Amino acid sequence: MAALTYDIAVIGAGPAGSMAALHAARLNRRVCLFDRNARVGVPVRCGEGIGFRSFIAHAGNRLEWTKNKISRSVMVSPSGIRVTIGNIDESYILDREKMDGDLVREAAHAGADLFLSTPVTEVRRTGDGSYECRSPDRTFCASIVIVADGVESRIARFLGWNTALSLSDVETCAFCRVTFPLIDQETCVFYVGSTVAPGGYAWIFPRGKGEANVGLGINGTKSSAGRAKECLLKFLDKELPGASVENLHCGGVPVARWVRPLVRDGALLVGDAARQVNNISGAGIHYSLFAGKLAGLTAAQAMGSNGSVDYRLLARYENEWKKTYGKQQDRSYALKEFVMKTDDAFLDRIAASLAKEPPERMNYPRVFTRTFSRHPLLLLKAARLFG
Ligand SMILES: Cc1cc2nc3c(=O)[nH]c(=O)nc-3n(C[C@H](O)[C@H](O)[C@H](O)COP(=O)(O)OP(=O)(O)OC[C@H]3O[C@@H](n4cnc5c(N)ncnc54)[C@H](O)[C@@H]3O)c2cc1C
Repeated sequence: MAALTYDIAVIGAGPAGSMAALHAARLNRRVCLFDRNARVGVPVRCGEGIGFRSFIAHAGNRLEWTKNKISRSVMVSPSGIRVTIGNIDESYILDREKMDGDLVREAAHAGADLFLSTPVTEVRRTGDGSYECRSPDRTFCASIVIVADGVESRIARFLGWNTALSLSDVETCAFCRVTFPLIDQETCVFYVGSTVAPGGYAWIFPRGKGEANVGLGINGTKSSAGRAKECLLKFLDKELPGASVENLHCGGVPVARWVRPLVRDGALLVGDAARQVNNISGAGIHYSLFAGKLAGLTAAQAMGSNGSVDYRLLARYENEWKKTYGKQQDRSYALKEFVMKTDDAFLDRIAASLAKEPPERMNYPRVFTRTFSRHPLLLLKAARLFG
């Protein structure tokens, strides 16, 4: 079969890839979008939490993509001290199945050719500078390739990126959907401590109508085969006894520095594949939506009408990412390194002092300022890390 030819090939139809395909297609580029799965967005492998500002900025305030509104969060320390943060901007729990599905449909509607059940098995650069993407049945040619194949990111390796993660730069997660009528539907709850989730945290994110996404992540250095699942089952037994549990899965979250460079010749790396994830919370949806759109627009603008590529223009993708979120993500990496060196006794001390604050005055910046003002030695340590 003859190879199909496109301007831009996008590999992976998660939020990063779909946004890239959608925005490139809207600029009338010939785009193909591949996913190895027959349906995108299922099973949901995500807590589905997103902050209000990110939701407005990157999901266009599409309320039909939300399941539930959250108005406060609670942090539970290793010994059970509860700190309520009652003055947060609203956040949302998304419906990823709907959001991911809609984004793919919108990309197709904008003109992208969608190839589901199409795993890309190899990508290589040809003599004329274009890219050949192979799937088991067909070969596709494109002038630019956008790699959005998620945390495993095998495809990036064909193009010269080293996307292998060190153990300390990955959280191994176990997660599920539960139904439990007693879950407070307005509050996200986070649990920290070496017995609950060593080097990570456990979460309960309510989705409305008695449902919640529940999961935990363990740092790779403290994990072993089956440990995340074992910890999750123990956590469910203790915190939500008798809950009905569905869709228990395991997966990884990269908590690594974002990959540099993000652009190699005519190839752009986006989303989890590029490690564009907040290293403290593990949140990556907003980064993927932002980076995907930026990569799609940049790629489309770099394509000349005769099919030529202005490679210098492609560098804008990395520059804009760095300006908007790159530095923020670098700080989250430094903070993660710092948190990894703390122990349960330290987390309990911090929680005990924060628990004295009136919940309605507590927001996330205040958690940081209060922590540092009550523990001045921390400031010195942090200054060394961030300096
Ligand atoms: C347990 C867990 C909880 C999380 N909770 C949150 C949260 O609450 N909030 C938040 O903001 N973030 C959360 N995240 C992170 C968030 O899910 C990711 O950052 C986001 O999905 C990344 O989007 P993406 O498009 O880069 O990758 P993905 O969503 O992983 O999409 C990658 C796509 O590429 C496809 N693919 C892979 N390889 C190939 C191939 N060779 N050929 C074709 N297709 C391929 C896959 O099938 C997939 O559809 C969580 C992650 C996990 C694991």
